Amino acid sequence: MANLNLKHIYKVYPNGAKAVNDFNMEIADKEFIVFVGPSGCGKSTTLRMIAGLEDITAGELTIGDTIVNDVEPKDRDIAMVFQNYALYPHMTVYENIAFGLRLRKLDKEEIHKRVTEAAEILGITEYLAKKPKEMSGGQRQRVSLGRAIVREPKVMLLDEPLSNLDAKLRTQMRSEIAKLHSRLNTTFIYVTHDQVEAMTMGTRIVVMKDGFVQQIDTPKNLYNYPGNKFVAGFIGTPQMNFFEGTLLKKGENVIVNFEYSEAEITVPYSMLYKAKPTYLDGKTKVYIGLRAEDISLAPDDVKNSKAVVKVIVSHKEELGNETLIYGDINMGGDGYVESSTRIIIKDNSGRDLKTGDIVDAALNIDRVHLFDRETEVSVLPRIPEFNYLDCEVKGGKLKFLGAEVELPEAVKCADVKGELLLPTDAITFGGALKADVVSCENINGVNLLALTLNGKRLYAVVDAFNGEKTMNIGIDFKKITIISNGENVVEPMPALNSLDCKFVKHKGTEEVNGKRKKVIRFGFEVADTFFEAEDSAAQKIFAVLGVKKSLLTALKMECGVYDLAVSDSGIKATVESVLDYGAEKFLKCAIGENTVYVKCDGERSGEIYLAPDFDRVGIVETERAIKII
Ligand code: ADP
Repeated sequence: MANLNLKHIYKVYPNGAKAVNDFNMEIADKEFIVFVGPSGCGKSTTLRMIAGLEDITAGELTIGDTIVNDVEPKDRDIAMVFQNYALYPHMTVYENIAFGLRLRKLDKEEIHKRVTEAAEILGITEYLAKKPKEMSGGQRQRVSLGRAIVREPKVMLLDEPLSNLDAKLRTQMRSEIAKLHSRLNTTFIYVTHDQVEAMTMGTRIVVMKDGFVQQIDTPKNLYNYPGNKFVAGFIGTPQMNFFEGTLLKKGENVIVNFEYSEAEITVPYSMLYKAKPTYLDGKTKVYIGLRAEDISLAPDDVKNSKAVVKVIVSHKEELGNETLIYGDINMGGDGYVESSTRIIIKDNSGRDLKTGDIVDAALNIDRVHLFDRETEVSVLPRIPEFNYLDCEVKGGKLKFLGAEVELPEAVKCADVKGELLLPTDAITFGGALKADVVSCENINGVNLLALTLNGKRLYAVVDAFNGEKTMNIGIDFKKITIISNGENVVEPMPALNSLDCKFVKHKGTEEVNGKRKKVIRFGFEVADTFFEAEDSAAQKIFAVLGVKKSLLTALKMECGVYDLAVSDSGIKATVESVLDYGAEKFLKCAIGENTVYVKCDGERSGEIYLAPDFDRVGIVETERAIKII
């Protein structure tokens, strides 16, 4: 039993193929995690890195309390089950299951106990004396599961274990593996390209594409709140319908226009509170996503719906308990091919529809998904990043949502009318503005508060919430942007400093027991200042870049504005300005070509020295964009 922590894990194969990019995940003890995605997305590579069968290019993998990057596979306390059972043909089932334990020199009695127990759990007791060739695919896979179970691993890794089985057996084995998980109480990580397998088995699912994690969530959340069009389309059968269209805000409603068709519906603006206003201009194109079960042909639904579109029926698929109706919202369209007007409807109405029939379909607008046309990211993120608000600056005061606050020195600007980008994490407790709390949603450990300020919606992300009905709020001004006539008149202070740096080798001498000895030190050089690297940091650099290349590679040192401190020694910097945000002051400093921001208590000017907190500093290889530390 163990938890796992994958921190900034990368895999670059020797041929340069970047198979896994910045994989981050904490897996709790006893979870059933499924990695899913199309072939080549990096799921097996990730699993094999966890197993130790593949080197980790960069990042840190922890199993239990141990960093295992350099731990041999056999010492990681994991067991792996593969698609091609990998059984020894000349051994009996018993011998196959016992093999690993014999290698580990467990005593005979213990081996016998474990093998018979595993066989019992898997229902293969009667086959123990048989050879693998006398068994079916499903039985063989049970044997390979047995071989993994008897090792009593902390983590079970399963790489497409059911791919060789026929559909019926797969379904059966699926539930057997799920049962096995609850019986063994071990952490399971399961790789599959089959979304149904993922949805039915995982407690949490990692959806991957092209080496990047797309979303990590429970099956239900992935289905209901896909973060992008890829996840929306990948999870669920039949695939979500995607139309193209535009959104136009008119008063308290938004008109959704479907391109290439006559279809148009009206939805209340309250549904789109989280959307950036630019999507509501009637011009910016979006993808409109609706699942087949969120469209109804039932006469009552159509009668009561405010969102009805016309559909021309092309054909249907009879599934027994329900029918999939294929059609098009463009009366000249063809429901046979996927297009931006093709529509698939799950119909339980039992109506006998024929090719060419034109019917009304009610769209369940509460379940509409919207995605950006370019990035394909959801326009209605579960946790919005910003509040987009109209604002006015007059005489150093910021007015928005009927409220007025004094701008601190650092963000004082000329009188303008424009837009305020107020990040949801820039709303602080205890300010001068009084807001009402409408709701608090805990989304994967994050509290999203829906507030109203003078009756207008405002979202805030907070660490802790105690159920207050009203609260005093303030603004973290260093995070805001004010845009006027397309220009940023106020910009946020970067939260992360990025400094050019090199990894260097210093030769020198040192007095050891009264004698001078030659010593070599490795470290980071920033603006001619040398910081000796801790062994663990140097090892990470060597592991990713190799010893020789590490001294030639351009690096960036990344640290937060609170992770650099004004000091007596360190990196020489020139103070360019002092930024007074009211509650906090920061220095804007130049270091060579780089600009950094540092928290300071008093006023400073001229040359100063900055000391990084190396426990919190990150090191990034710029060329391949790999976070090494
Ligand atoms: P998946 O398991 O999702 O099908 P993989 O993890 O096997 O994907 O592969 C991810 C990517 O890495 C693919 O583009 C694949 O071609 C590449 N890849 C896998 N193994 C190697 C290798 N040994 N050398 C080079 N590239 C590889």
